[in-house]
Amino acid sequence: MAHLAILGAGPAGYVAAIRARQLGADVTLIEKDETLGGTCLNRGCIPSKALLRTAEVARLAAETAEYGVLAEFKGVDWPAAMSRKNKVVAQLVKGIEYLMKQNGVRVVRGKGRLVEPLVIEVETDGQPETVKADKVVLCPGSVSARLPLPGFQVPTVLTSDEMLEIDKVPESLVIIGGGVIGAEFADIFSAVGAKVSILEMLPRIIPLEDEEMSAELARTFRRRKIDVFVNSRVSGVEERGGKRVVRFTQDEKEKEVEAEVVLSAVGRTPNTEGIGLAGVGLEMDRRAIRVNARMETNLPGVYACGDAIGGYLLAHVAFAEGKVAVANAVGQTKEMDYRAIPSAVYTHPEVGSVGLSEKEATARGLEIKIGRFHYRAASKAVAEGTRDGMAKIVVDARSGKIVGAHIIGPHATDVVHEMVLAVQTGASAEEVGGMVHAHPSLSEPLMEATEDALGVAIHK
Ligand code: NAD
Repeated sequence: MAHLAILGAGPAGYVAAIRARQLGADVTLIEKDETLGGTCLNRGCIPSKALLRTAEVARLAAETAEYGVLAEFKGVDWPAAMSRKNKVVAQLVKGIEYLMKQNGVRVVRGKGRLVEPLVIEVETDGQPETVKADKVVLCPGSVSARLPLPGFQVPTVLTSDEMLEIDKVPESLVIIGGGVIGAEFADIFSAVGAKVSILEMLPRIIPLEDEEMSAELARTFRRRKIDVFVNSRVSGVEERGGKRVVRFTQDEKEKEVEAEVVLSAVGRTPNTEGIGLAGVGLEMDRRAIRVNARMETNLPGVYACGDAIGGYLLAHVAFAEGKVAVANAVGQTKEMDYRAIPSAVYTHPEVGSVGLSEKEATARGLEIKIGRFHYRAASKAVAEGTRDGMAKIVVDARSGKIVGAHIIGPHATDVVHEMVLAVQTGASAEEVGGMVHAHPSLSEPLMEATEDALGVAIHK
């Protein structure tokens, strides 16, 4: 039986461990943190989703009268919201620990470092332990990036790690970076009472999404009195009179904004330093580990996956890459397929997308048809009190295939999967538009938008 050593128990590593056991390998999983689950579970996707739920409930509680429910909204009990968040994380961490036991994965706690391509030395609490394996899978994850600017360190500027542990809601919060983390934290903290400003260097927030999704989210944020500054490049942060002052340049004008707390959300960087990678001759692309589609590095028997290889820094991509890496490690041949990766932004409204944006499709020289459908014309959305949101479908006019889908609205991150299936399998607009969708449902806007691309939407 082959012995696999897996470094890092985040989404890439723990999924790789379970899959490797299913494929008959012996597995040692090495983790430096006290808890399994990595960034996603301990200080990323999951705690932020728990707090986003608090934000959603708070906003709803403030407008129950609209639904004919008489209740008094007295505000948010932040310590209670944080303790619920901690419970959610603890429950899921326990779940992963249980899965490790149930699958017979040996977990070694401590910081691992490659001393030879197939030998990892682990600094444990007691004796250092040397793990020798037939194959090694590196999944060390990523850390928050920091701008090389004056003032960019804790406690002046926080990262999402500290922000998820903050013990009180700040009066005011400036968020540097209007990407996914920036947008999700703006949603949370504006709902629980902070005055929030976002500073984004590019012309729009969530710049990786289709332009219409960015515009709709920015409109919602502004309606909630979040100040959204775009084309705004931050040049430094300083402490002044008990406040933090962020200096930035917007349209060539020097400006300042003041806040009690400053959050940096300017991206994440592979966590590849201090774990012996250079010493064993592993090839890198800057800080990311270089791999091919089979997740093989340049060293025979050494694989890597997850945030540490760069590209998409997403837990669901890490899950998939982990499975591909171990399949190859046990002698199968599998390649990672990146054709239909869903993107999910958990703000309210949520944004879910897959495939090409309108601009990307045009840039690739495709002749396209665009279909749109607004939630205000979708009966389930109207019944639920949703005024905003839309679905937008990008169709390749020549082949008739759906090549992109972009949704902003309630449950967008769930309903997008119909379109993930469409893009992955090369389904045509005719097929998806002709498929019977439950009425009323939040999936109907996808059918209507698809038919709209064909010029035959019914409720438009
Ligand atoms: P990001 O790359 O999504 O966004 C960073 C933003 O900061 C960009 O819009 C960039 O233009 C802006 N920026 C960079 N330098 C700036 C400066 N000097 N001044 C102003 N703006 C500046 O990164 P993130 O939001 O920090 O998230 C990190 C990673 O974690 C991403 O890869 C993201 O995909 C992942 N993540 C995903 C989710 C999700 O899928 N829901 C949630 C959180 C994080």
